[in-house]
Amino acid sequence: MPESRVVIVTGGTSGIGKAIALAFAKIGHKVAINGFGTHQDIDSVLAELTAAGADQVLHVPSDMTKTHEIQKLMESVEQKLGACQILVNNAGIQHTARIEDFPADKWDQIISINLSAAFHTMRLALPAMQKNNFGRILNIASVHGLVASVDKSAYVAAKHGIIGLTKVAALENANYNITANCVCPGWVKTPLVEKQVEAIALRENLSMETATEKLLSEKQPSGRFVPLEELAALCVFLSGDNASSITGMSLPVDGGWTAR
Ligand code: NAD
Repeated sequence: MPESRVVIVTGGTSGIGKAIALAFAKIGHKVAINGFGTHQDIDSVLAELTAAGADQVLHVPSDMTKTHEIQKLMESVEQKLGACQILVNNAGIQHTARIEDFPADKWDQIISINLSAAFHTMRLALPAMQKNNFGRILNIASVHGLVASVDKSAYVAAKHGIIGLTKVAALENANYNITANCVCPGWVKTPLVEKQVEAIALRENLSMETATEKLLSEKQPSGRFVPLEELAALCVFLSGDNASSITGMSLPVDGGWTAR
């Protein structure tokens, strides 16, 4: 078992973030999450993390659109668990519409949650990482950080942006044993994607099963969702001592999507 490290997973109450938080819990790290949910949902995620083996757990209810709440997240974790050693910027939202129809407030919200929030957590986490000569930054981008799709202007812009931000962090911190990488998933079955399947089913009068097949067949050659556990295992590997030379990279986990 590696030494217990302090991990923050933003958006750790659901989907990919929850799976990543669980994987870090299983190797005995101290796991802090943020993200929305009812008290009951959040207590149940924290109980799952504890049962999985987390050294300590914490939920901080910060809204990632608000800079002062992001600061509160980082300060609360430092006070209660210690300085962040592994930072996973995962919180994200989606909205689909053509550019000319895209609501301006949705653009601002997506850019702030999917991109600017990662800048804020990184600027606040890096000084202690540099002082301690250890840090792992994992930014959950997307295949949409590498290629585009119609109707996703804000999401594609934010995800391309986070890949650039990650490369800068990698270069600036290459001499501090701090790595910064992006994980770029294809379709993963989470509430974020289920909403898109429902929209296809409704728009084209299809069953959920047929809408799912349509969604996968258009982009993902494997024809199946990327398993959450595979993304989580990659994050654990990238955060470990054996990944100290992998930095500034964007790793697709996409069933062949970006190979086309
Ligand atoms: P999800 O909807 O299951 O989870 C999103 C999480 O972000 C939740 O915990 C939610 O509470 C949190 N969140 C949303 N807005 C927030 C805010 N303002 N402040 C704090 N927390 C907030 O989604 P997911 O599919 O697990 O997505 C996680 C990440 O993975 C996102 O960055 C997404 O873009 C990326 N991603 C997902 C897929 C996919 O197919 N599901 C593919 C590629 C990339």
